[in-house]
Amino acid sequence: MLDILKFKAPQQRDDIGKGRIEVKDVSITFGKGKSAYRATETTDITIEAGEFVCILGPSGCGKSTLLNAIAGYVEPSTGAVLVDGKEVRKPGPDRGMVFQQYSLLPWKTVYENVAFGPRMAGHSRTESGSTANTFLELVGLKKFGDRYPAELSGGMQQRVGIARALANYPSVLLMDEPFGALDAQTRLMMQESLLDIWRKFGTTVVFVTHDVDEAVFLADRVLIMSAAPGRIIEDVRIDLPRPRSTDMATEPAYMQVRQHCLATIKAESRKSFESQNA
Ligand code: ADP
Ligand code: MG
Repeated sequence: MLDILKFKAPQQRDDIGKGRIEVKDVSITFGKGKSAYRATETTDITIEAGEFVCILGPSGCGKSTLLNAIAGYVEPSTGAVLVDGKEVRKPGPDRGMVFQQYSLLPWKTVYENVAFGPRMAGHSRTESGSTANTFLELVGLKKFGDRYPAELSGGMQQRVGIARALANYPSVLLMDEPFGALDAQTRLMMQESLLDIWRKFGTTVVFVTHDVDEAVFLADRVLIMSAAPGRIIEDVRIDLPRPRSTDMATEPAYMQVRQHCLATIKAESRKSFESQNA
């Protein structure tokens, strides 16, 4: 049995309602003067605590840049990011991050990788170990604690990455194309598994992808970005029932909202194509 008390969602613990994100008039320009490059246009979004939001846009439009601003790795050139009303100035344990590259510590076992965060946060060896076990169980990998990352498949490594991020009890989970390197079958499985984990843990999720199907399947809301420099051109609410299974892909309601997102993206790429050729 999972120790439910240990992994109660942020919203269910004493820190009720945690994980609300405000991106206020944020634009990001890299460099200065002649070499200045505008990576994102002014963006204004509010994400409620516990929401699952996907940021969908073409490659190079600034998705990672925007996510990194929420994470605190990139400083906005204008505006500010607030998490639970507090301005983000640097990365912090309240915001867990999962990247496309698995980024586990290769010389540590799976168990040690997950226990590492809680250890760094000052928890005892026993406590950190039990947290690690709790989250490895949540992602279905408790039996693999003694393995090294290189001994696991890509999908399993990415589940360790999720366990590692959650072991700090973040109020926000930031995911940057986390399943982009996986094969199609594993990817579908991981999407279902992520929704299951999210349902149990209940953290706010901001998930970046360039894949329309992935975004529609996962999200409560899909924020569609324009081509570079990216801005949010549409905020699409996905009212499909949960729990969701990937079998849903053939249902009319799913196909309708997917079609809507595709049409928005197509219209936008046509505009940017025409302006390039004008
Ligand atoms: P996406 O994730 O949507 O593919 P990115 O956010 O990675 O796009 O990048 C958006 C643009 O900003 C790209 O043209 C990229 O080269 C540029 N960029 C990203 N990070 C930096 C940086 N640190 N310095 C300069 N340019 C950057
Ligand atoms: Mg990116």
